[in-house]
Amino acid sequence: MKTIIRNARVLTMDDGDTILNRANVLIDGDVIAAVGPDVAFPEGDVREIDGGGRLVMPGLINAHFHSPVNHLKGSLDSLPLEIFMLYESPALDAAAMSARAAYVRTMLGAMEMLKNGVTAVQDDAFFVPAPTPEIIDAVMQAYADSGIRATMALDQPDVPEIEKLPFLGDMLPPNLKADLSAPAPMDSVGLLECYDHLIRSWHGAEGGRLSAAVSCSAPQRVTPDYFAALDDLSRTHDLPFYIHMLETKLQRVLGDEKFGGRSLIRYVHDLGFLSERLNIIHAVWIDDADIDLIAAAGSVVAHNPISNLRLGSGVMPFRKLRDKGVPICLGTDEAIADDAINMWLVAKFAGLIHNITDPDYERWPKAAEVLDCLIRGGARAMRPSVKLGRIAPGYQADLIMVDLDTLPFTPLNDLKRQLVYCETGSSVRLTMVAGRVVVEDGKVSTVDEAALRAEARAHAARFAGNQSEVDQAAADLQPYYREMYLKAAGRQVGMNRWVGDAAHAIQQG
Ligand SMILES: [Zn+2]
Repeated sequence: MKTIIRNARVLTMDDGDTILNRANVLIDGDVIAAVGPDVAFPEGDVREIDGGGRLVMPGLINAHFHSPVNHLKGSLDSLPLEIFMLYESPALDAAAMSARAAYVRTMLGAMEMLKNGVTAVQDDAFFVPAPTPEIIDAVMQAYADSGIRATMALDQPDVPEIEKLPFLGDMLPPNLKADLSAPAPMDSVGLLECYDHLIRSWHGAEGGRLSAAVSCSAPQRVTPDYFAALDDLSRTHDLPFYIHMLETKLQRVLGDEKFGGRSLIRYVHDLGFLSERLNIIHAVWIDDADIDLIAAAGSVVAHNPISNLRLGSGVMPFRKLRDKGVPICLGTDEAIADDAINMWLVAKFAGLIHNITDPDYERWPKAAEVLDCLIRGGARAMRPSVKLGRIAPGYQADLIMVDLDTLPFTPLNDLKRQLVYCETGSSVRLTMVAGRVVVEDGKVSTVDEAALRAEARAHAARFAGNQSEVDQAAADLQPYYREMYLKAAGRQVGMNRWVGDAAHAIQQG
């Protein structure tokens, strides 16, 4: 099956950011076969799409996401990460979900992304209390059915909660200390069996549209032995390796307290696991030496500006990373920390937040740089076995059509700036993944959306009965986590990634 889009404006995202003002795009199977003003109408079975007044551009890539909380958007007021996680990922059976509910919640996120023009997602999926083959299959089947391109890893710790955090051992009463010292719900042997299932069953499935990644969640959340096994798996299969590092100031302090004064970046470097396969997620509280290590290793950094604001984590040093040539991709993080799952908003925030960290306006992000992170950075992070992120022959036909006869683009002054600063997803008219149209004129073609929403509400109603146990467990721990958080917040760490007087205010008490 061939498709030709005729007479569209095309943002190619080639090395020169070429914009073609009027061109045809020919798609043959899952790849782009030809692009240009003179591409002729092909022979045979062809679908023709009128691109007049519309823009064709590569689909957006959500390079960091956690699908298991897709059903929890808007559930919490803003909280710091360490306290937020008590509610978001408690290791309680009460928080476990059926495979069908996991399928439905995964589909909710996939639909929302596809409708907004996201064609690919990297899902760092955590399962509470632990993953099973059935639930892995449910999530991957949802991605298969939705039509989105997806890479999934299992974001699971294998150390007790108390070992991941500073100070708590001295603060907790004995009963809570015992609770938090319990072994992780699944050991590394069990987790590696789950990875074996994920890779055997799903890596390369759906014609390569689905793939596996590995994740250690964060270096402080795993044993060095499990970390090594994951690094091995990542190298053997050439899989992206997801790792949250220095998201919060507390994690900087953790390096002082538990890793001999080393930053977590240096700790991972010393273990030998900094590599070009790593997706370093957040990298907010990194210093210049960390940036040099990241650049030397060739790792990618995943920037999640809305999540970082929602959880008060701080502002990533964007320009310093760019100056050292570190590739940056963009992500929403999860739907409970960036509740809209909207990559247009992420791009806009990435284009704005850094302006208040540096008075030198020549160092502020430009719209073209934000698009570079959004598209090229995302494609780089995914390590795909196919070519992604460009409207050019030989690249995957992962593309969107944006209506330019809409208010965000009227009048059309500068395409790239209006994509970054004006568009919110409302002008997306078509989303194509691997040559297949999955959204057209606001409708997802791969699923009965209304039925799915109704089922999601039914699952949520059943799940609500378990929420009180989760809330009670979190409430019991909250005072101690607050004390820990404030102690770390008041520590001098030789840098400040909060804006304005935040660091000063906390040191004044
Ligand atoms: Zn994350």
